[in-house]
Amino acid sequence: MAARQGLARRDFLRSAAGLAGAGMIAATPGLRPLRGLETSRRPKTLVVTFGGGARDEETFAPEGQENIPHLLNDLLPRGTFFTQVVNHGILGHYVATASLATGAYETLNNFALAAPQNPTVFEYFRRDLGRPAQDAWVVAPSNGFNRIGSSDHRKYGEPWGAEVLLPKQMLAAAMGAKSSLDYEHLLQDNYESPLTVSTSTATAEDLYRTAELLKLSYSDFSAHAKSLSSPDELSVFIVHRLMQQLAPSLLWVTLHDIDIAHSGAFSLYLDGIRRSDRLCAELWSMVEADPEYKGRTTMYILPDFGRDSDVDAGGNGFQHHRTGDALSRTTWMLVLGPGVRQNVIVDRPVDSLDLVPTLGARLGFSTPFARGRVLSEVA
Ligand SMILES: [Zn+2]
Repeated sequence: MAARQGLARRDFLRSAAGLAGAGMIAATPGLRPLRGLETSRRPKTLVVTFGGGARDEETFAPEGQENIPHLLNDLLPRGTFFTQVVNHGILGHYVATASLATGAYETLNNFALAAPQNPTVFEYFRRDLGRPAQDAWVVAPSNGFNRIGSSDHRKYGEPWGAEVLLPKQMLAAAMGAKSSLDYEHLLQDNYESPLTVSTSTATAEDLYRTAELLKLSYSDFSAHAKSLSSPDELSVFIVHRLMQQLAPSLLWVTLHDIDIAHSGAFSLYLDGIRRSDRLCAELWSMVEADPEYKGRTTMYILPDFGRDSDVDAGGNGFQHHRTGDALSRTTWMLVLGPGVRQNVIVDRPVDSLDLVPTLGARLGFSTPFARGRVLSEVA
């Protein structure tokens, strides 16, 4: 079933505008990519994950392609696309994203403020390469992601972790005593289950320090936030600030708007898909427009997992991801950047855990506790 899904995705792409025929080749494992663009400057990495994936019916299938024009026409032709990325872990967003970040299936409680058990990619990166704290950042959608920057692992842990930014938490603090009504659309948290996590996990000093680092006054920030239509737009705004002010080498952003599907509103789910599609293209445009990033940045785009099919009696279609069936586990990944072959589709099944070892292989750090395998097509 998972294999069929991946192959169907490949076929959809073959029929999509802009990707038909010309230049598209199927990659074979072991083939080395070109490395024509090596520079003396440090490589940059931007990982974009989606919390709450979308189904092919609303994306890659012919009837869904109108929702993802940027992915199909702007980004896919520039990168290597894996049609079959299978998540064998727990289908909750925090635990699944933590698993993507450690390269091992985490078993932590999805709804608790727990650190991953295995070292994160941020710890491997910073420890092996001797990078300072401000070189690795996570921008995450909700308070539940507070601990994703570092594990409890005794050989690694917090001294080597990433800085975690929760834009909604910053906004809540920036608003202070002011009415939150103007920003309610940006402060919705966790569509999946009521998770009550106090925002007091970050101190006022932490937030002040972050705002200073980003050269963001509270009044400017809240004024700008007011013009934004969604939490993901707020996250992308913060990512842009991070790039401009600190130019970190390893930047991880988790988008979450699509997961509004849990509300059962199909139109809002589609809006989330279209917005995510546009924001991915905007992120790549930010990379291309910034001399610190242009030509040396590899971007990885992948949903954490899928959503339920319409036919599974145990589910409720697009709304949730509770059945654990093949569709809710099979997703995809797009990789683009220097040395990554363009307009290439990889059909073989790969694992969600393969991301971290692949990042290690590309950037030159070891990932001893990750269980995945290096994706030779892009490493
Ligand atoms: Zn969800």
